[in-house]
Amino acid sequence: MKVAFACSECFPYVKTGGLGDVCGSLPKSLFDLGCEIKVFLPLYGGINTSNHKLSLSDELRDIPVMIGNSTHTFNVWTGKLPNSEVDVYLIDNPHYFHRELPYTNDRDEDERFILFQQAMLITIQYLKWSPDIIHCNDWQTSLIPAYLKTTFAWDKLFESTKSVLSIHNIGYQGRFSPESIYNSNLPVEYFYPYSPFELDNSFCFLKAGIVYSDIITTVSPTYSEEIQTEEFGAGLEGVLKSRSGDLYGILNGIDLDVWNPLTDHYIKTHYSIDNLEDKEENKKNLINRIEFKYNEDTPVFGIISRLTGQKGFDLLKPILHHLLENNDIQLIVLGSGETQYEELFRSAQYAFPDKLFFWSGYNTELSHLITAGSDIFLMPSHYEPCGLNQMYSLNYGTVPIVRKTGGLADTVKDYHEFDEKGNGFSFKDYLPDALEKTIHRALYMFKDKKIWKEIMIRGMKEDFSWKISAEKYMDLYKKIIS
Ligand code: ADP
Repeated sequence: MKVAFACSECFPYVKTGGLGDVCGSLPKSLFDLGCEIKVFLPLYGGINTSNHKLSLSDELRDIPVMIGNSTHTFNVWTGKLPNSEVDVYLIDNPHYFHRELPYTNDRDEDERFILFQQAMLITIQYLKWSPDIIHCNDWQTSLIPAYLKTTFAWDKLFESTKSVLSIHNIGYQGRFSPESIYNSNLPVEYFYPYSPFELDNSFCFLKAGIVYSDIITTVSPTYSEEIQTEEFGAGLEGVLKSRSGDLYGILNGIDLDVWNPLTDHYIKTHYSIDNLEDKEENKKNLINRIEFKYNEDTPVFGIISRLTGQKGFDLLKPILHHLLENNDIQLIVLGSGETQYEELFRSAQYAFPDKLFFWSGYNTELSHLITAGSDIFLMPSHYEPCGLNQMYSLNYGTVPIVRKTGGLADTVKDYHEFDEKGNGFSFKDYLPDALEKTIHRALYMFKDKKIWKEIMIRGMKEDFSWKISAEKYMDLYKKIIS
């Protein structure tokens, strides 16, 4: 099985969220299952080619690609995904990709990913490599299924190539002005109201991907149902419904080379179910690091998140001060994003300097320390396609409190006194009161050390490795090429 994997971020080269984690780990598991797999991504300015042992290809240089009427050129850097034999190809065009961040609000954001997607297909042509599957991820790569059936359809190389589109978050759709179709090198006459490229008078990359791909997947079974509803479909529910027979929900896995309490190289004291008491050393270390007062009986809550409305902080807003004032708890927040949520945590830190610690920004080391050192992980998302942090937390014996939506509903089982199945705490209603009650339930159970340990162990016993999910992708690939 030959698979070309298209993505706009891939750990460890570049990551802004879960997409980066998935694209850095799923290809390795597919390779282990026997796939011949090549990963393609843009070479952003922040990627250090020598640190990542990437080399500039001699053959793949100064290759022309059209954006509208202008010709641009690109080079290709190649290497192996770390700890694997997976080939990576990074598309290099400094004009478009050497910017402060991978994603921008610049006027030419559409052109950046139009260039990337065409450049990827052109590179495949230069390699004379005929993939069975092109696996696309999110809007930044979702024109590829349309290119395969239009602009690039003449090429026999792609004659039996099928496409898979994975939607990691329906909230991001790549909507641009109608004029953008002229930049795309797609047939402009295909853009008209209700056409595969049009949504609310915008040129919508994701809609094109949903219409043209052979199979659509999303990152959890529950989310695959939710996005077909008006509440969660973000305007694409109708198109998704029309393709519901080809829409599958496959839960993401986690990369156990990176997120494993027995080997994690950011944490000082490693632990597993067999020496769970050593997790407490990580709590001490975390608390000392932020210069709070350590107390075994004070539950430490962790949050690691993009600070956006999606993540449910509107539920925390009205109860946060009250919660900190009336409970012996400590809350450590790592994240950056919308000003209103940064303000929320900054003002709470000001009011409760010995109870709330807020680190604004992106910090990989701290994210591991919080995952290992917290007692409870808070993730009350409004919607959550899959969510990785709750799976990392479960794996580290850090008990999650989540809202029952998307992948959170598929991974966190609410604790109930008598059924002995719970690995965390969850609630359904998107209401501050529901969150507060759930936090109180967790605080109450935290006092019972025996039960708490059982909850932790049940979480740590869950198998979130990629193997199971990678097999499901393989089955889908086989199904569409047969
Ligand atoms: P999403 O993709 O919606 O952001 P996920 O839970 O799927 O959410 O994945 C988020 C990933 O990004 C996790 O690996 C998490 O640890 C990481 N992350 C999010 N915010 C930060 C941050 N401020 N610092 C470090 N890592 C972060």
